Amino acid sequence: MRPEELLLPTPSGLYCPPGDFHIDPTVPVKRALITHGHSDHARAGHGAVLATSETLKIMAARYGDDFAGTTEVATLGETRKIGGARVTFYPAGHVLGSAQIAVEANGLRIVASGDYKRRADPTCLPFVPVPCDIFITEATFALPVFRHPEPTAEIGKLIASLAQFPERAHLVGAYSLGKAQRVIRMLRDQGYERTIYLHGSMEKLCRLYEAEGIALGALAPATVSSGAKGDFAGAVVICPPSEIAERWARRFPDPVACFASGWMRIRVRAKQSGVELPLILSDHADWDELTATIAEIAPAEVWVTHGREEALVRWCTLNGFAAKPLHMVGYEENEGE
Ligand SMILES: [Zn+2]
Repeated sequence: MRPEELLLPTPSGLYCPPGDFHIDPTVPVKRALITHGHSDHARAGHGAVLATSETLKIMAARYGDDFAGTTEVATLGETRKIGGARVTFYPAGHVLGSAQIAVEANGLRIVASGDYKRRADPTCLPFVPVPCDIFITEATFALPVFRHPEPTAEIGKLIASLAQFPERAHLVGAYSLGKAQRVIRMLRDQGYERTIYLHGSMEKLCRLYEAEGIALGALAPATVSSGAKGDFAGAVVICPPSEIAERWARRFPDPVACFASGWMRIRVRAKQSGVELPLILSDHADWDELTATIAEIAPAEVWVTHGREEALVRWCTLNGFAAKPLHMVGYEENEGE
């Protein structure tokens, strides 16, 4: 069996002919297997969706309960037959509920890892390396310049700034699914016990994380209608990255604009977006994590998708792994970065 007979890159996403399903399709399809809840991977309108229970709940929270014709829970590590293919979900370490999907037939196994990382994250299960013939990897940060620092040290910078500027509000721009909850949980783990304020767009998913057993401590809406500007002195406010330099931010006392993202490794990008305190905290693998993961799994072939495909393909070739870029479209590099 040729690999493309088992899993084929198409304009609507990866398609499995023997199982007649798509993985993370970019358009509505009959049957979709979803790796995780970020909106470029998990879209509404499919006939049937198979995903982890957390991902299904995230999709329902974002799109409403009728986001698909039917849904089915994929239990991690449990293999099921779909048509002529066998399918197993494994943790990807990206966000709550995120999974890699292994697809097998006729002794050939392809792992579509979706988005993943290898660093510790107290809000989701760690990535599990799955032996396979073909490993499909993301390439969001696939350049040697992207080496993420230790996550705890980045949160330590925020804690230090709070101590240094007790009269200023700290506005932390963080993607609403995954990054926001990880920042909050890591603050708690480093002993920050004060109430953390949330932009309205953060509340639903934070409550969902709590319902799934990720304790986030005292949270409150970041509304000034009920109090004075000074109430937010020295407070942490979590908001979408797009809000930190906007009108919305001006309601807070002398705000420190922070942004938690892998892109903060690029200083000029931090400067351009008006960020005073960049926090290099990513939910994607950096260059070292990508190359170490490929070396550890040692697949016969690597397929590289969404991001800096050419650089990683070149590294694979130089290191003895057959590799090719998939050139798939429809996946956003800023989605949950
Ligand atoms: Zn993602």
